[in-house]
Amino acid sequence: MAEKKHLLEVNHLKTSFFTDSGEVKAVNDVSYYVDEQEIVAVVGESGCGKSVTQMSVMQLIQSPPGKILGGEAILEGQDILKFRPGSKEMRAVRGEKIAMIFQEPMTSLNPVITVGKQLTEVIRTHKKVSKKEAWEMGINALASVGIPEPEARMKNYPFEMSGGMRQRVMIAVAVACNARLIVADEPTTALDVTTQAQVMELLLDVVDKMKTSLIVVTHNLGLVTRYADRIYVMYAGRIIESGTTEELMTKPCHPYTIGLLNAVPKLDADEHAHLMTIEGAPPNLADLPDSCAFAPRCPYANEACKNLPHPELRPAGGHGHFTACHLEVRREES
Ligand code: SF4
Repeated sequence: MAEKKHLLEVNHLKTSFFTDSGEVKAVNDVSYYVDEQEIVAVVGESGCGKSVTQMSVMQLIQSPPGKILGGEAILEGQDILKFRPGSKEMRAVRGEKIAMIFQEPMTSLNPVITVGKQLTEVIRTHKKVSKKEAWEMGINALASVGIPEPEARMKNYPFEMSGGMRQRVMIAVAVACNARLIVADEPTTALDVTTQAQVMELLLDVVDKMKTSLIVVTHNLGLVTRYADRIYVMYAGRIIESGTTEELMTKPCHPYTIGLLNAVPKLDADEHAHLMTIEGAPPNLADLPDSCAFAPRCPYANEACKNLPHPELRPAGGHGHFTACHLEVRREES
């Protein structure tokens, strides 16, 4: 079988924020890839660097205080981190090649401009079409994401729409631009449970129909195991485990991943079942230890863990399965 091509390959990415409290190492030597038509999840607690990683690749980090200190992001053979953030090339990457969907669509939508105007502007930035053609394409894009009365909706301002509708508009932007990769950062967290499921279903449907790739950034490991092909788990600015979803679900190796899995409610659990949580809080990224950053919360930590340098990722058995832990830890079946 022919090897799938990496659509995006990120190597040794490092991003820090220089603050009054010191250098906050938000992304600390992170490498990952996404193949064509693949769904990849980046999972971790809030503040673990998962969003900053994606924002760095898109060159959307505010500088100062943020700075990309190193690494490369190869998209279709080109290192897009070599482009200046405001350059024509980088603008072409954003939208045309990679579309980003944020937790709160108002981050991307301008509240004082109608949805139609914003949609047609984005389309015309990336495609050589007239205003009229772009307007028609905008209507079609809204219709394709299930927005009723798309002609009328084009004249709405974003604040006149619900959160779920606004998120549909963001997905419509990705559809209209024919993006090769969609990066969805906690796309459903701000929505109510029913709308969450609808928006996620729509996103997966669009990804399937457009044959695009998808990176989902989330704190919810339980949710992504239903549709992701592969998962990267991040902790304190680093990837600490990666592998296929099946491998991570059945043979997780890193104590943090095991902790996240134990915290996922089971469908067949009885209502009095006790959900395990990971004790403690993530470390201060401005004051990271040289040793394993998870040690203060790790039930398996021993003296060596506290004295040895932070563990590097090493193969953990299955194809593409890597873990950054000094010990051979296995999850006990619960
Ligand atoms: Fe826990 Fe030690 Fe592994 Fe770190 S290296 S995750 S402290 S067992």
